[in-house]
Amino acid sequence: MTFRTEPVLGLAAARRCAGCRGPGGPWCRGCAATVAGPAADADLRPWPDGLPRVAARSVYAGPLREALVAFKDHGRWSLRGPLGSALAVAVAALLVDADDPARVTLVPVAGSPGSVRARDGDHVRELAGVAARVLRDRGVDVRVATVLRPGRRRHDQVGLGREARAANLRGSMRASPAAAGLAGVVLVDDLVTTGSTLAEATRALGRVGAVPIGAAVVAATRTRPPGAVARSR
Ligand SMILES: [Zn+2]
Repeated sequence: MTFRTEPVLGLAAARRCAGCRGPGGPWCRGCAATVAGPAADADLRPWPDGLPRVAARSVYAGPLREALVAFKDHGRWSLRGPLGSALAVAVAALLVDADDPARVTLVPVAGSPGSVRARDGDHVRELAGVAARVLRDRGVDVRVATVLRPGRRRHDQVGLGREARAANLRGSMRASPAAAGLAGVVLVDDLVTTGSTLAEATRALGRVGAVPIGAAVVAATRTRPPGAVARSR
């Protein structure tokens, strides 16, 4: 894993918490407490065709939203630890239903080449790497496999509606044939909004014969209340 510095931030700013801008950065105990408790299931309406269960650490709001924005768009790479740990909780929630919960392969969704360049790195891969380390420490045999690649050129999804997103994403990811041999595939991403990106990733894996057991994200724009019946397919 590569380690990056945070050249755009002054020392004082780097010590601030990304969630509340108070002391105790990059992620203070108070903000960490706002995402405690069990992981949630994403609540996507409508549920995209073929998309398996999506577990989220928490809802995309408050300090967690601030931290994700700081990490993705403002280069606060020091948040990879807390946000990657948050992703690990979502992955662990999926493993309860897995056939072989001790063997897992995290597959980061492929960012568009433009967005990876603009952000000076692949933040989802960074989060997957941290989540894998956290889970390995708990005895799970987990690896990260970068088997999804951008396919044809696509535009950033920001500002697009549901139909436009789907059209933009069609054919936008390709899976390596090696994906077919991976055990316990879990798609990972930072955020789920409509689920169209995860659905496209699922289709790309399906074309090479790989079926993810689910998807795990740090945050979902909408989550089911705890204890709600799992998604209908
Ligand atoms: Zn804070």
